[in-house]
Amino acid sequence: MTDNKTLPDQIPTLFIVPTPIGNLGDITQRAIEVLSSVDLIAAEDTRHTGKLLSHFNIQTKTFALHDHNEQQKAQVLVEKLLEGQSIALVSDAGTPLISDPGYHLVTKCRQAGVKVVPLPGACAVITALSASGLPSDRFSFEGFLPAKSKGRKDKFLEIAKAERTCIFYESPHRILDSLKDMLEILGPDREVVLARELTKTFETFQGLPLGELFEWVQADSNQQRGEMVLLVHGHREAVLESLPDEVTRTLAILSKELPLKKAAALAAEIYNLKKNALYKWGLENLD
Ligand code: SAM
Repeated sequence: MTDNKTLPDQIPTLFIVPTPIGNLGDITQRAIEVLSSVDLIAAEDTRHTGKLLSHFNIQTKTFALHDHNEQQKAQVLVEKLLEGQSIALVSDAGTPLISDPGYHLVTKCRQAGVKVVPLPGACAVITALSASGLPSDRFSFEGFLPAKSKGRKDKFLEIAKAERTCIFYESPHRILDSLKDMLEILGPDREVVLARELTKTFETFQGLPLGELFEWVQADSNQQRGEMVLLVHGHREAVLESLPDEVTRTLAILSKELPLKKAAALAAEIYNLKKNALYKWGLENLD
């Protein structure tokens, strides 16, 4: 069932409204309707948002809410909501709260019993993941990488054994240093995707083993420009890549007669290996 209603009847509401991350065509119809009909738009940078609003011919008043004043101004906005005004929260680009302001405001609204309604829309992490070719069944968004090398290396050590895809935001002036630190901790074979300038003219996806990706980015300064997302393939147990032929042959024979789980458990017992590793190998390699 669909419901085309934009504003709930007379209930003061904070709307979380994503805006495009490059291509203005990615604004949603509902975002335009909400931004046009609320009493006030809380924006990270009112001049930046002003340009977006004038492009869509939206006249709504704006109010500055950014990292430096959010704790203090969130209370002012909650009071306006409690007085009956409806407010939309936007950031400069993408989904508010995702490496952007809004967390304090949403928390305060929840505490005060104000209704909070999220609109789905553009977000660089999801956009990058969806086309990266990396496993998307489990992933974590790790936000911006730390600015200093020590912090970055600690972060890479923390995720080194994680099996999920890990996703980072990075800025152009740090990309080479970050890839260098990553190479030191995760090694040259880890598959990494650099997604740049999503939804824009020079959108680029490059997925390579880390050693090769570092050299590719180093050799071409264009690849160090613009907005970027780094996606790191999860850790793969070494045993998955290097199971002896005898083990895989046994597993294949057993799995013809038994469910894979059972076959993997038996083969693991015979060869004194981990059954989960054999089971995963079977899932990836056997029909
Ligand atoms: N709230 C935004 C979102 O929903 O993705 C993220 C805001 S954060 C301050 C900005 C960072 O997001 C950039 O430095 C970059 O890492 C990533 N980003 C935003 N737009 C992007 C784009 N068009 N292409 C690639 N990365 C982008």
